[in-house]
Amino acid sequence: MNGGGVLVVSVHDVAPPTRARVERMLDMLRDTGVTRRSLLVIPNFQGRYPIDRDNGFCAWLRACQAQGDEIVLHGWEHVGVGTPRNADERFRNRWFTQGEGEFLSLDYEQAFGRIARGCALMHRAGLDPQGFVAPAWLVTRDGVRAARDLGFQYTNSYLTVVDLAEGQRHLAPSVVFGPGHLNQDVGIALQERVSRLLTRFHVVRVVLHPPCIDHVPRMARVIGIIEQQLLRGRQAATYIEVIQQLRASRLSAALRRHAH
Ligand SMILES: [Zn+2]
Repeated sequence: MNGGGVLVVSVHDVAPPTRARVERMLDMLRDTGVTRRSLLVIPNFQGRYPIDRDNGFCAWLRACQAQGDEIVLHGWEHVGVGTPRNADERFRNRWFTQGEGEFLSLDYEQAFGRIARGCALMHRAGLDPQGFVAPAWLVTRDGVRAARDLGFQYTNSYLTVVDLAEGQRHLAPSVVFGPGHLNQDVGIALQERVSRLLTRFHVVRVVLHPPCIDHVPRMARVIGIIEQQLLRGRQAATYIEVIQQLRASRLSAALRRHAH
């Protein structure tokens, strides 16, 4: 990674029923030069699609991983099990999922159980995720603690990436495309404006959802925003690579301080 900034493109809601759409999206991203992506995988989508029952799906994910993509744990079932507690949660639950804030109101034990089950399924599939991201970033402090205690290196929110192992939070804002209104022309226009504002940040993120690919002209517009605005002068990397880079730069800053 160079000093010119980093772009993380992540695809949320990767599961057996969304595989075909995600594959098409990854092909389009590859054509723009974004070859390292973070794939947020739901291990047991809706309680009906446990990944370890679909060998082809698991083999495909392992192949993605071998080619440089990162596999991230994205909840357990991705179904809503709580109700939003305030305006911010209602906003995220509505805009970033279709009311699927699975970790919205879980206590420590419940969150720990779901994340641990997700890990077990991933491991059975030959995958070893280092990051945990709750559906719609809706997660309690207890849920984040459970992820850390289970050995996850990082999580993220809409605006930050959080190094769980080092207890550091780094500003890394996102533009989100995909579910609901954010997959309509007005949502894309809004995110196009947001992405212009984000170019001054060192780490910027693009979050895509499978419905993005359903409307070809809109997906082309999203790809255009990535190519012409966000990728310019930046290197595409996965979340775990960004975490490693941030750790290395903190370490070298500390060593420099020590040397003076
Ligand atoms: Zn999701």
